[in-house]
Amino acid sequence: MPEKITMGSNRKLQVPNHPTIPFIEGDGIGPDIWQAAVRVLDAAIEKSYQGKKKIEWIKVLAGQEAFDKTGEWMPEATMYAFKEYIISIKGPLTTPVGGGIRSLNVALRQDLDLYVCLRPIKYFEGVPSPMWHPENVSMTIFRENTEDIYAGIEFMTGTEEAKKLLNFLVNELGIKAFRFPETTSLGVKPVSKEGSERLIRSAIEYAIEHHLPSVTIVHKGNIMKFTEGAFKNWGYELAEREFGDKVYTWNQWERTKKSNGEAVANEEIKVASIGHRIIIKDAIADNFLQQALLAPQDYSVIATLNLNGDYISDALAAQVGGIGIAPGANINYLTGHAVFEATHGTAPRFANTDSMNPCSILLSGVMMLEYMGWRDAAELITHAIGKTIRSKKVTIDFHNLMEHATLLKTSEFGDEIIRNL
Ligand code: NAD
Repeated sequence: MPEKITMGSNRKLQVPNHPTIPFIEGDGIGPDIWQAAVRVLDAAIEKSYQGKKKIEWIKVLAGQEAFDKTGEWMPEATMYAFKEYIISIKGPLTTPVGGGIRSLNVALRQDLDLYVCLRPIKYFEGVPSPMWHPENVSMTIFRENTEDIYAGIEFMTGTEEAKKLLNFLVNELGIKAFRFPETTSLGVKPVSKEGSERLIRSAIEYAIEHHLPSVTIVHKGNIMKFTEGAFKNWGYELAEREFGDKVYTWNQWERTKKSNGEAVANEEIKVASIGHRIIIKDAIADNFLQQALLAPQDYSVIATLNLNGDYISDALAAQVGGIGIAPGANINYLTGHAVFEATHGTAPRFANTDSMNPCSILLSGVMMLEYMGWRDAAELITHAIGKTIRSKKVTIDFHNLMEHATLLKTSEFGDEIIRNL
């Protein structure tokens, strides 16, 4: 009998052996990649638990398919299912063109308050990469998902709103920094203490649970002191206040050094060995992107605001050759709500060609299994994907970049992973 996943009062998910999980196939290449991925997920669960555990999938509609069948891009029934069943998974969705329609992904994030965008960056041996040593890149990005300039508070120059706001800033607050006030558009960047703390708390808890060495707060606080800079400061304060001797912060390191009359070099804490404690440090975003190329082995868990996180997620995914296979999830660790998703789009030109790489949605499924605590099945799939790629049996995107590789269709690639489970 299928049952619902629920959130326990101890903030731990209660996952029954036969949970119901809604899925959105997605538009464009969505059906092709989902069909391949779901067969692998089911096969790995069967192999790991011999029928004791099994997911009951229920299809829900969103995007183009929903619009064609119901006249709505995001039917109420779909939102209800995502709320009710706590965990869900989705393929890519066509972004509706035209005014007044929220991006479906943004709607989901806002309505379920999914404040963490989680992006693990992991290298699979054999994947074509622009790095000499892509195996040194192993990071997990916690991108804040509800604030920052993504709040969408923007005013076009020439509008009454823009004039009013500009007037207020100039006349009430005495701001003189507007170089061309007549043609200036304005945007607002909200960053709150609560929003920053819940994101950074999740990142530190993740590092502790997964025995990872460090959390780096990436920010642009040298320029934006009260948003990005405050994010960093709130992060350090929270780490010391809530995690005590489980962490060791750059702030503590600096204080100790200074009280001993010693000079402090910014690099030191990167290599400091502090027993079992997790090191909490920070990096300015531009420097971080440089260091991620030059010394990726120094970074593990990354906590960052929305816009930085957007750039960093794609840049790091590209470093491991994974832009087409990178998985992702949007999570609220307090309510448990989580939507696992392919990070690429619908690639409409390739719809129904059975040719695209299903790894992004499949690895999102792996993240989902880990989140549910079904680690054996998750590990089985990760190993099988690794083995399949190492054997150079791949879909067209990798085939184009690999020598002596065998070209497989999406469905055949799924079959090959199942054989390798
Ligand atoms: P896209 O990611 O769909 O495609 C860009 C290119 O990436 C493709 O032409 C293809 O060469 C490659 N690619 C994408 N997925 C691949 C896969 N699984 N295997 C191999 N190669 C792959 O980006 P786009 O063309 O800018 O967007 C198309 C549509 O998707 C738009 O409607 C856009 O709004 C939407 N979109 C949705 C999401 C989402 O739902 N999360 C994300 C991005 C874009």
